[in-house]
Amino acid sequence: MRTVVLGPKCFWCKRKPPDLRDLDTGHQWCAGCARDTVHAGDPFLLYEELTPEAAQYTAVLGQWGYHRQPPAE
Ligand SMILES: [Zn+2]
Repeated sequence: MRTVVLGPKCFWCKRKPPDLRDLDTGHQWCAGCARDTVHAGDPFLLYEELTPEAAQYTAVLGQWGYHRQPPAE
């Protein structure tokens, strides 16, 4: 007997597993879609990293002059 587990998916593309969670909205993003929010000029800055891929997003944020917001205590 095999249990099918539907893992969480990226909020935007609904295909890839999420790499980051936007802590303001609770939406989960894959690294690719998250990067698109930077290019679109509307990145989320308060987030939690779910996978090592999230580092790509942090890097792109820095390249575009954004700064990650530290999580509130
Ligand atoms: Zn996605």
